[in-house]
Amino acid sequence: MKIRDILKEERPTISFEVFPPKTMDNYASVERAATEIAKLHPDFMSITYGAGGGTSDYTVNIASDLMHRYDTNVLAHLTCVSSTREKVKDVLGKLKEQKIENILALRGDIPANTDTPLPGQYHYASELIEDIKSQGDFCIGAACYPEGHVEAANQKEDIRNLKTKVDAGVDFLTTQMFFDNSILYSFLYRIREAGITVPVLAGIMPVTNVKQIKRSCDLSGTYLPTRFKSIADKFGNNPAAMKQAGIAYATEQIIDLLANGVKGIHVYSMNKPEVAAAIMNNLSDILR
Ligand code: FAD
Repeated sequence: MKIRDILKEERPTISFEVFPPKTMDNYASVERAATEIAKLHPDFMSITYGAGGGTSDYTVNIASDLMHRYDTNVLAHLTCVSSTREKVKDVLGKLKEQKIENILALRGDIPANTDTPLPGQYHYASELIEDIKSQGDFCIGAACYPEGHVEAANQKEDIRNLKTKVDAGVDFLTTQMFFDNSILYSFLYRIREAGITVPVLAGIMPVTNVKQIKRSCDLSGTYLPTRFKSIADKFGNNPAAMKQAGIAYATEQIIDLLANGVKGIHVYSMNKPEVAAAIMNNLSDILR
């Protein structure tokens, strides 16, 4: 089913993300985790795409498995900055073969010390979106950044670029993780004012590993509120306690978002079925 049709329903939606393995050795364990998450019956699951494209078959295979064996709606990510147009055409062909109709179209991070973007190939996600639209009847999602993309000079410019991207044919947006809901509310106000009307799914990261998240927030410029930092300082060295606190923090964020009219929640579940299950359990009556 196309995600844009799921998002037309009045009720709130929840989706979970998994990432494919880097090598075949880990394929079975990722597949197991993805299957466990699928059994929670989220509205859809998204499967990320290795930036270099070398593991693109894993993305397609996991998405296909979840869809055909577990009857789960899937969203396959696809990045373009390290790809040629031929490679993108090839992946789109495989997605069509597997009847996968939802794609999250991304530029991908520009690898350090290389000559990308490839000459004459892709520079921005909007170019990939134009290509996808010309090659099939896909439902297309794209990324957005409530605190601004790290390369953008300012938020105004980033929102202008976002409008160009959405106008290229985006059906819905998913946000980068954020830990302070007021940042999302102000972003939503700004993009609506800029004429961006597509549904926006709020990307929520249940933090279980403090070191990892601090590094990733440093790189992406994501703000960590004092309330979150106190939790991380207190429980960061106790993995079990941090997992419990991270799930509770994410749950509170989600409840506040739903209470304030946000309908779509996307959880960065990072191949952790127990985290996805705890969140579903915490929201069981709220999502019903
Ligand atoms: P774009 O929309 O192309 O934007 C990139 C930058 O270029 C921005 O600063 C933007 O303001 C600017 N820009 C855009 N268009 C123009 C223009 N016409 N002129 C001038 N400037 C412009 N990475 C992966 O490798 N694999 C994944 O599976 C993956 N999944 C993700 C899922 C989500 C929900 C999010 C938020 C990110 C994901 N990423 C993934 C990371 C993403 O690839 C990076 O954040 C990347 O740096 C930007 O990708 P984009 O599609 O947002 O790029």
